[in-house]
Amino acid sequence: MRVLLLSDIHSNLEALEACLAAAPAYDVVVNLGDIVGYGASPNEVIERSRGLGKFFVRGNHDKAASGLMDLKDFNPIAGMAAIWTREHVSPENLQWLRALPRGPIYVDGLDGVQFVHGSPMDEDDYVVTLHDAIEPLMVSPTPVTFFGHSHLQGSFWSNTVTPDVYRPVYRTVGQAETVEFPLREGQHFLVNPGSVGQPRDGDWRAAFAVFDSDARIVTFCRVPYNLKDAQDRILAANLPQRLATRLAAGR
Ligand code: ZN
Repeated sequence: MRVLLLSDIHSNLEALEACLAAAPAYDVVVNLGDIVGYGASPNEVIERSRGLGKFFVRGNHDKAASGLMDLKDFNPIAGMAAIWTREHVSPENLQWLRALPRGPIYVDGLDGVQFVHGSPMDEDDYVVTLHDAIEPLMVSPTPVTFFGHSHLQGSFWSNTVTPDVYRPVYRTVGQAETVEFPLREGQHFLVNPGSVGQPRDGDWRAAFAVFDSDARIVTFCRVPYNLKDAQDRILAANLPQRLATRLAAGR
């Protein structure tokens, strides 16, 4: 089975469309949450995402925008974006956001694989460093976890003795590129496909991944998108300017 992994789209329609146009063939789509928040196209992104299938986990921004989480843990800019999103999402889409499941979720036919937003330990935990990854790698009984939330593309793994981290290395800064990462049998993996709509690893290109469960290969992908349109939409919506400028830096 080939699984298209999308995470942290954050209402960036231009980035989502670029990923879908560039994606290789897939059988199923799994969305790892934070569909909304930060960007200016929440309804368009929700409707496009809903059309891709049924596998979703909720992100903290989905909870905040739909009133399931209070904004005290959000920085001021994220909080402003959550309130803006709440005011601009249609009632039907808001209901849909509220009903998104908490991870982990599982897909029939994919044994030993789970999908979460933040961490297998807690949906809101951040797995950023190798140190953060050690406990979930050791404790989770499911060998392969796909997660989002950190907006950092890559993988942590452990053969029970020495955990390690892998970050894909690309040759260019502006072209569509892919890097393959095999998941060896007998090891545990935490894999982040990266953020579609607000990458934070210094690479402005939209990030996603495809998992081929038969070959046990994750293909990490980066694709350029219409950055200016996404930025113009944020500015026209009177969202904080920083949400537009950070997209160009990938931070
Ligand atoms: Zn996010």
